[in-house]
Amino acid sequence: MEVFTSHKKPSSSLASLSNGVPTLPLYRSPPTLEVRLEDFERFAVDRLLVLRAISDGLARGKKPDEMGKLVTDLWKTHMRHPRASEDIDKDIISHFVLRLVYCRSEELRKWFLSMESTLFRYRFRDMNSDVHLALMTELGIPYKVVSQKEFEDLREQLNLVARSVNQPLPTPNGLYKVSFEEVPELVASRKVFIQKGYAYVALNQVVSFVVPHFRSHLSKALILTNRKWTSMIREQEKDRLTPIVEALATSYLGPDYCQDKEFGEISLKDIDQVARTSFPLCMQHLFNTLREDHHLKHGGRMQLGLFLKGVGLKLDDALAFWKAEFSQKVGAERFDKEYAYSIRHNYGKEGKRTDYTPYSCQKIILSTPGVGDHHGCPYRHFSEENLRAALGKMGVSSRALDDIVEKAKSRHYQLACTLTFEALHATSCDAGINHPNQYFSDSQKILKEKNMSTTA
Ligand code: SF4
Repeated sequence: MEVFTSHKKPSSSLASLSNGVPTLPLYRSPPTLEVRLEDFERFAVDRLLVLRAISDGLARGKKPDEMGKLVTDLWKTHMRHPRASEDIDKDIISHFVLRLVYCRSEELRKWFLSMESTLFRYRFRDMNSDVHLALMTELGIPYKVVSQKEFEDLREQLNLVARSVNQPLPTPNGLYKVSFEEVPELVASRKVFIQKGYAYVALNQVVSFVVPHFRSHLSKALILTNRKWTSMIREQEKDRLTPIVEALATSYLGPDYCQDKEFGEISLKDIDQVARTSFPLCMQHLFNTLREDHHLKHGGRMQLGLFLKGVGLKLDDALAFWKAEFSQKVGAERFDKEYAYSIRHNYGKEGKRTDYTPYSCQKIILSTPGVGDHHGCPYRHFSEENLRAALGKMGVSSRALDDIVEKAKSRHYQLACTLTFEALHATSCDAGINHPNQYFSDSQKILKEKNMSTTA
């Protein structure tokens, strides 16, 4: 791809402003520098960690100040390059890689647009006035500087508006005139003084009209990237970038939970009890369906089977467990012939002997269960009625239930699951739920601690 093949450095006017001061690119054009494949992926993963944590912060209803702090901390933790001079490159490259990843469907575009705009908003607030002015110029936002004389003439009116919205009186060099149509939000909430078609906007209010410009530019760019992706890049890069891009949207960024080391094995005699106390809803649903119907289709067998491997169910126990259920429906012989192979396969004992890892929430949420399937994430794939009933059965109180269902309806599935975890374990789970096996492991940790303190 042209974007990642030349050796030239990015030449944004903002980059030239930097002089060691962090700047904020507008991502108008792709970087024209050579990127190693590992960096291509690593930078994207780092940015994804930032965007996902922002999504979680928003879904939890964090206030603007809390969001500002969160964004600053996330940026420092994940987006600093070991060589400070390459921070901007990392920023631009990671943005453009994720643009490829998230241009590929309406749903992905919407999420990326919203998270990138939020990230931009809070980073913009942290920048100095030189960067603000450079950005307005680069975005083509027409603004005029207010002269000292004009400021003195309007001092009283400006003062009145500032006081009515609890803002300090702006200084003449921190005040700009923009067409009032540029700032409908500020006009509607009467936060600016208007005269002769101009709104007098203080520097700290500039963010409200810069972000929509940024957002609209990115929205158009995502559509264009999608066209290029489907018409050209996907095919051209099928052996190099395409597999990375396709995996990134569903990638899970935490430990792989191949085998839970911390809690060792679970035995067959305990499985019903730990399922009740420590399985997340997706796995409880599969587990209960299997117990009732003595059968699960392929998607369900994979999702539950790999999860059980991850929580420490040994291969022999797994075979015995599945056989006990399936033979009631299809007979022991057919189980041995048709189903045992895929269980051994999941444990890496057949076929290519790959050790298959348990599915992450991302992967489960993006799956598309058909009729008769029971896999997927209930917060996404259940009707509201079924979700309420399932949560009630798990023991979620009616007070917590409405909140959880609300989060699921607004498509914050992992947060809904986190709130369920918090309600059932009477404790907070700040890291959020990202993996069913993490749910299990965190739950076991809490239950064992509780157990120890009651027996002490
Ligand atoms: Fe399972 Fe994850 Fe959905 Fe929770 S959020 S039910 S752990 S897929």
